[in-house]
Amino acid sequence: MATLLIDGKWVAASGGQTIDVINPCDAKVFTTIDRGTAADIDLAVKAAQRAMDGAWGNLTATERGRILVKAGELILKNGEEIAQIEARDTGKPLSVARADVVAVARYFEYYGGAADKHHGEQIPYLNGYNVQVVRVPHGVAALIIPWNYPAQMFGRTVAPALAAGNACVLKPSEDACMSGLKLAELLVEAGLPAGALNLVTGYGYEAGAALTSHPDINYASFTGSPEVGAMVQESTAKHSVACTLELGGKSPQIVFNDADLDKAIPIIVKAITQNAGQTCSAGSRLLIQEDIYDKVVARVAEAFKKVRVGTPEMDFDCGPIVNKKQFERVNSFIDDAIKSGVPLLARATVADGVSKEGYFVAPALFGAVPRDHRLACKEVFGPVLSAMPFKDEEDAVQLANATEYGLVSGIWTENGGRQQRLAKRMQSGQVFINCYGAGGGVELPFGGMKRSGHGREKGFVALEEFSTLKTIVQHHG
Ligand code: NAD
Repeated sequence: MATLLIDGKWVAASGGQTIDVINPCDAKVFTTIDRGTAADIDLAVKAAQRAMDGAWGNLTATERGRILVKAGELILKNGEEIAQIEARDTGKPLSVARADVVAVARYFEYYGGAADKHHGEQIPYLNGYNVQVVRVPHGVAALIIPWNYPAQMFGRTVAPALAAGNACVLKPSEDACMSGLKLAELLVEAGLPAGALNLVTGYGYEAGAALTSHPDINYASFTGSPEVGAMVQESTAKHSVACTLELGGKSPQIVFNDADLDKAIPIIVKAITQNAGQTCSAGSRLLIQEDIYDKVVARVAEAFKKVRVGTPEMDFDCGPIVNKKQFERVNSFIDDAIKSGVPLLARATVADGVSKEGYFVAPALFGAVPRDHRLACKEVFGPVLSAMPFKDEEDAVQLANATEYGLVSGIWTENGGRQQRLAKRMQSGQVFINCYGAGGGVELPFGGMKRSGHGREKGFVALEEFSTLKTIVQHHG
């Protein structure tokens, strides 16, 4: 099956080449996708422009919203099929893939309902004037998404971009895009006019770079690594095109000596093992007040040992790492830490019976990681938790903010004043108090500070990002 959706039709890449799609559970090729290039991106951008000037651009916000709501219904109806596709492509446990599909549907329900509730205002001005400030779409939106939550990322970007009235060109990750193909098919079935959503599979350095440097895009939304994010910002800046960057994180979970540990520990463990740690908002640093440090790491180590890693069908806590490159990268962090003498406090178990060729990594807990160690500062993007002691509230703040990232923070304390003081000082786009929502919450504005990026996705604010203002001044005398 052709994997490029351009102008409402599924077509093969113009260059005729394909990319192998590999199952991370056994490293075997299970299908291929088309290798879209600059020529295909150009066709997709032109199709999107025509859609803006035609059937799509002429729809009312209510009509756009209805299509999205219908898409949400179709996603739920086809939920099992999408979950199976997602689990096979990424290796994640089936029950997690099923939950992801419900979240995708929620994006379409939420933004479908919001499409006609996002509007402008009238400004009182001089006598004889009528001034309207209206919300308008940017035009052609370039969407580049990664492989860790491919279906959810599809919903997170495509749903608000369409709700705001943009026509989209989506470049999913070459490492996991199969669920996106099915989701695009369902949007067409829901009645989306041709060209409103175009999808080009291909390599990032090829199709992705061609898209973000295309002179006719009007907005770009990128989710991925800080390195590529910087390149995207540079290429969009050449055409004065605004972009949203959702990059990585090194998020702290801060545990004070008055914390409710029974509540905190299972959530802390899940926040790093969920999706095998391949979550930008994973709670990858565990900062513990020094007088309870030993007690907490002992309990977290116990919980870590019970975490099980397996195939989607085994449906354990987590699956494999998505590809060979990431697998080697995650292992290099673990091996370097061990070699440099950082104590390995616990390791989870990879289930018997998984393929030896698969990219399975047993989650690892390291303790008393030196503050300047690579493991304490750099994003692993895998199931590796770094525990570190802190002295008091001020020390906790300094340590929590000591990385270049600023995506999410978790605070565990029963002291209300401290909860508020810390929430105010955390340099992160989200702060969770006595809870943690790695990746969760369609309704909650999400995005980074510092090197975690800029702009916000999710919630109503995503509609603001995906639109701009037009001021209309009428002199009626
Ligand atoms: P990546 O940056 O290599 O790839 C992300 C996407 O960008 C893919 O679709 C890829 O094809 C594309 N791409 C690659 N090179 C490109 C280029 N030159 N021009 C345009 N597009 C290009 O990252 P990855 O390996 O897919 O994902 C892992 C990283 O992404 C981690 O650092 C992680 O923290 C981050 N991430 C962040 C979030 C978030 O919401 N903040 C979510 C998921 C992943």
